[in-house]
Formats: sequence, structure tokens, C-alpha cells
Amino acid sequence: MPYSEAVDSRVLLRRLRDTLAEPGGGQERLDSIVRLIAGGLVADVCSVYLKREEDWLELCATFGLKAEAVHLTRLKVGQGLVGRIADSAEPINTRDAPNTRGFRYMPETGEELFSSFLGVPIQRLGEVLGVLVVQNRDHREYSDDEIYALEVIAMVLAEMAELGAFVGPGAMEIAAQHRLPFFVRGLVGQEGVAEGRVLLHEPQIVVSNPVSDDPAREYARLHAAIERLREEVDEMLAADYLSKAGDHRDVLQAYRMFAHDKGWVRRMEASIESGLAAEVAVEKEQSATRARMSRIADPYIRERLHDLDDLSNRLLRLLAGVDAISGREVPDDAVLVARNIGPAELLDYGRRLKGVVLEEGSVGSHAAIVARALAIPLVIHAERITREAKNGDPILVDGDVGAVHLRPEEGVARAFREKVEMLAGAQQAYAALRDRPATTRDGVTLDLYMNAGLMADLPSLPKCGAAGVGLFRTELQFLIRSTVPKRADLAALYARILDSAGGKPVTFRTLDIGSDKVLPYMKRQDEPNPALGWRAIRVGLDRPGIMRMQVQALLRGAQGRPLRIMFPFVAEAVEFEQGREIIVTEVARERALERPVSTDIKIGAMLETPSLAFASARFFEMVDFVSIGGNDLKQFFFAADRENELVRRRYDALSISYLGFLEGIVARCAAHGTPVSFCGEDAGRPLEALAFAAIGFRQLSMRPASIGPVKALLRQVDLSEARAAIEAARYEAAATARPALEALLGRMGFVV
Ligand code: PEP
Ligand code: MG
Repeated sequence: MPYSEAVDSRVLLRRLRDTLAEPGGGQERLDSIVRLIAGGLVADVCSVYLKREEDWLELCATFGLKAEAVHLTRLKVGQGLVGRIADSAEPINTRDAPNTRGFRYMPETGEELFSSFLGVPIQRLGEVLGVLVVQNRDHREYSDDEIYALEVIAMVLAEMAELGAFVGPGAMEIAAQHRLPFFVRGLVGQEGVAEGRVLLHEPQIVVSNPVSDDPAREYARLHAAIERLREEVDEMLAADYLSKAGDHRDVLQAYRMFAHDKGWVRRMEASIESGLAAEVAVEKEQSATRARMSRIADPYIRERLHDLDDLSNRLLRLLAGVDAISGREVPDDAVLVARNIGPAELLDYGRRLKGVVLEEGSVGSHAAIVARALAIPLVIHAERITREAKNGDPILVDGDVGAVHLRPEEGVARAFREKVEMLAGAQQAYAALRDRPATTRDGVTLDLYMNAGLMADLPSLPKCGAAGVGLFRTELQFLIRSTVPKRADLAALYARILDSAGGKPVTFRTLDIGSDKVLPYMKRQDEPNPALGWRAIRVGLDRPGIMRMQVQALLRGAQGRPLRIMFPFVAEAVEFEQGREIIVTEVARERALERPVSTDIKIGAMLETPSLAFASARFFEMVDFVSIGGNDLKQFFFAADRENELVRRRYDALSISYLGFLEGIVARCAAHGTPVSFCGEDAGRPLEALAFAAIGFRQLSMRPASIGPVKALLRQVDLSEARAAIEAARYEAAATARPALEALLGRMGFVV
């Protein structure tokens, strides 16, 4: 059996563990450890360098170098051999250190006496915490066994650092990772602020005893966990709904491949043989994977390495016997931290979360859609957050600017709380306006509607004082399931939505999928440019089965009540006509079945492509209403991808050209008496809302939280003045009306 051969490192590891268990401060422990390792590996020198600040390594303990150099010798990551090891997360083994590339002479250490050098990173889960070095006087090359032994020791040091073994009362003691404040600026996924405590979606495993006395037992534990892991992957693959091809299946196939990878298993066995606990053996492999991940640019290989990383997490959880946190155990002030999360999982946590921070994600991802629907602040692209955060850590999420403060200093927390209080004060002021109309000083009244996508949104309707739901995105019910929802379930949901709206109008948008919104049970089309591809009404018309079913569910849910339905992404009048024909046919069928059908059904089109603005007059006569989907319309008007961080903020919704284009649409609708509203995100920004009102919009639909700020502003302005400001900007050939409108509000004492 592979673990039966005695390996010296086991004895050394045990001694190390005993030393670490002795009482004493962090420095004392480090001093004993370097002595022990030097003795165990027959080295003249053993030194530990630890990261005391982000980019700096400090000599924290040494046996063999001059004692006065401890806490004096510092190297930047990347500098000298030690810095190179920290940078690359790779060992350096040389018999002639002074003549090795990158060597840097540090006279205070007296290291010129030592020719051979072996250094390995002290790392935990891909995070380099420091460097462990042994040196000898004679010219010798360290053997593979010695390198391996040093790596295993470094692994134990990393685990112990994580447990706080090197923290003590003295000022020069060594702070453990994950105790210092950490700040990261990501991207805004959903605005709002939250203060709470970290809840890791994938809980990390704490290994209290990294060294094992019984390798045979660890070996058996590892193999039992791998067996279970393989079964789990097979079960997932066999699951019915995944039997069709698609992305999920590819990932699972990759999981299966890794789970059966002999090299992976062998390397973990070897770590156990050298005295590590099974969990640490898995983590050692995971560290190596993560170090590779950070060096590889190829997105495909990175994705596969992520798969392997996920698999290691699963294996760790199986070993430790913990499940991923289920939605039921959410503490009161939880801020969820995850690499990524699916819409169904996020919905499971629901409104119990105060905020969400993701390492990945995109503004249009399903998770972002759900966070928006739940009005939970969301920051995406928060680099390294899953590695830095520990369960229960204090965390501040500023979704307005995409900032995250983990373990914040008191001053930061205080400033943050002041901001939260100020916002709460403003919310109270907005609540006082709830039943007042959005009437401007010069007597123009706007109807402010809210956007929604879940039943859970409806309680906001009376709270925010919206005139109704101007856009109900129906795709969430399709995205969060693994199979097509049943017609009866959808009908029941639509009925409850109309019940909750209490007679206020609700505009249902038919399924808007494709592009970034891919249904788990639909074959993914490999499209070169999905945003311009087979999406929304295009899918609905080409595969009318789902559209028909949804229309039936809407008709049945309405139970004879007035109904408003609109089609997303209509580019040509004929698409609207064909969509309307489906509704007309279904209405006739319901009538033939003698089911109650409303006599008041309004059918509209979302104007999200510039082409529809130039449709024939017949279209504007035929359509019952038009709703401008500004998120899409803007991206096509400027040819700037709404998901692409490099360009998505480049063009201004208040640009004179865009406002002129929108004004043309308003005029065309007015000429035919066709009601028009604006329901993209821009409608919820006060300055944009003002500009839209000034160019003639009388209906805006936005997130519930935006209604207060937009109404508060509209009630205090003169639309004619705003119109004049836009006209002046146009006359002066300004690129955008923003400065002119800001100046107008400035004169009125507003800060926007
Ligand atoms: C839009 O495009 O403005 C819109 C409201 O639709 P979505 O954001 O769902 O694409
Ligand atoms: Mg759209």
C-alpha cells in the first residue's frame, strides 16, 4: 500500500504540530519551527518570510541567518529569489544562489556564506502567504523528496497561519490572513447599500488538525469521499432534465473526467503518505490549480480549471461532512458571498439576504436579474472576495458604486453608516410623497409605473405608490426551473399577480429569452453575436409552442379581467402582426371552450431596435401601445454592448442625438394617438426621467425604489425650463444635455 512506507516528513510534521500546540506567542512559535525544520532537513539555514502587507515579504524568523535581520529584511513580491517564489508560487532550487537569476544580496542577513538554496511558497488555496526557505553552505542540489517535504511543511504552516497560530500580543507578531481589512471595487449589479456579516455560499472548510497520525485512515477517508464524489457527478449527469445536450452537460462531463483523473488522486495520496490530513491533501492540489489559474489567460482552460476547483470544493465538503448552506439557514444580517450563483439558488435565499457580492457575474446575468427583482444590493466582479471572506466577517456593500469593505476599520464603518442613515432619511421623505401625483410645477402629470418580474415584487406596488406594473418580465419563471413551467402553474401565478395589483394595470411582456438569457432546458445556439441573434419574439414566432402556452396561461390567469400583453424586441411591424395573430387565435380558442375571456385586451410592442421607430404609419395605428426598452434600444442606437464594461457607459442617454431620436418616436406615437412609455433602466434615473418628461413622455416605468427619487424631482421642476435647457444645449451643438440640465437643477438648489 502506498502509505505504508515510512516517510521522514511524517515525524517532522508531528514534531511541528506538537511545537505549534505548545503555549507561547506567534514569534516564539516561528522561532521554534525554523529550528525544527533546519534540524529535520539537515539545513544550515531555515527562514520564514511572511507577507505583512499586500506586496511585501518580511523575514519573520530564521535559524542560521543573522538574528538582527529578522523583521528588518524586506523584499517586494517579485524581487530576489524569495520575491520570485511568492510571485510565481513555484519553488526555486539552486546549488548556486548568488549566480541564479534574480538573486539579490542582502548584507544584513549574512547569507553570502550559503550557496545552495531551496524555497517554496507558503500558500493556502492559491493565496501565497509567505515563503519558506532552507539554505546550505555546500554546493548541493536538493532532491525531489526534499522539495516535496518542504512543500508539505509549508502547507501545514499555511493552515496554522489561517488558524491564527502566529498571532500574539506583541506589535511585531504576525497577523493571520483574513484578519486585516480588505477592500475591493467591483461593478454595480444592483444599487443599494447593506451592512451585515458574510455568508459564504460555498462554506470553507476549517482544518483544525492538518497533520495526521494515521495515514491509513486518511487514505481510506479520501477514497470514500472520491467514491461518493464520482457517484454524485454520475447522478447529476443522469438527471433527467440534463439529458439534452448543453452547457451544463459539458461542465458535468468535465467534472467526471477530473473525478476519474488518476494523476489527481495519486498526488493527493502522496500528500497523505507524507503525513497530511486528507483535507489538506485536497487543498494542496487546489492551491496548485489556483496558482495555475492565475497564470493562464486562455478562457477555455481557465473555465476547466474552475471546474476542477469546484470539484475540489465538493470533495472537501464530502470529507468534512458539510453541505452547501441551504436557503433555510440564513442568519438575519447575511451578505451572501459567492464566486457565482444561479437564479434559482439566489431565489432560495430570497429577501433574507441583505446583500450579495459575487466574484464573477455580469450586469445582465440571471443572478443580477433576480437581485434586481428582490431589490438586494449586488456587487459583481469583486475580485478575490471568496478567498478573503470568512463566514461571519463584518462586511459593507455599497451597491451604488460597486465597493465592498470586508472587515472594515471603524472609521470606514462609521462613514458608511452615515450614508445608510442619510439614504433612509431620503426614503422616508419619498414615502411621504407616495399618494401624491408626479405633477410638475407647470402642471404636467406623469404616470410612474414599476418594473417587476416576480410575485415577490408585488408588495412593493402599494408601498412605492406606482400607478401599476409597466413591465412584468415573465422570463424569470422560465429561467429558474430545470423544465418548462406548466401552463396551469403559470396561469395561477398570473392570476395572483393581477389579484395583488388590485385593479391597477399590469403589462405582461411575453418571454424574452435568447441573448444572455438562456433557458436550462433549451439547446444553446452557438451564435457569433447573441445580442443580435435569435432572441425574444424571434424565438417566439419560430417556435410558437411556448408562446402559445404562455398566452393561454395569461388569458386563463386573467379570468376575464382586462389584460395587457406586449412583445419584446419587435424589429418589424410584421413580427408584431404575427405575434398578435397568435393572441387572437388563442382568444378565439378560449371563447370556443367557453372560458371567460376579457373583452379588454391591449396588445403592445416593445420598441428596442431603431428599425421599429421607422415602421410604417400602419404599425403605429395597429399597435395598442408602445413601450421603449431603453436598455436594448440604447445599445443598438450607439452600437455599444450593454454587457460590455469597456463600452457600456461610454454613451450618454442624455446625448442630443439620442434624445432627438426618442423625441421622434414620441411624435410618431402622438400623431397616431398611440400611448408610449419608457421602461428601460434610464427611466429610473432622476435626471434622465426629467429629460424624458421634457421631450414628451408621460409614462415611465422603473424599479420600485426609483419612483420616490424621480417623483420628488419631477414635483419640483418646471418642464418648460427643462425643455429650454435641452433646446439650448442643442442650439449650442453640445454633445449631451446633461451639463445644461445639471446647471438648471443646480440653480434650483438640487444636487444630482
Ligand atoms: C430594455 O431592453 O430596456 C428592457 C426593459 O428589457 P430587458 O432589460 O429585459 O432587455
Ligand atoms: Mg430589452
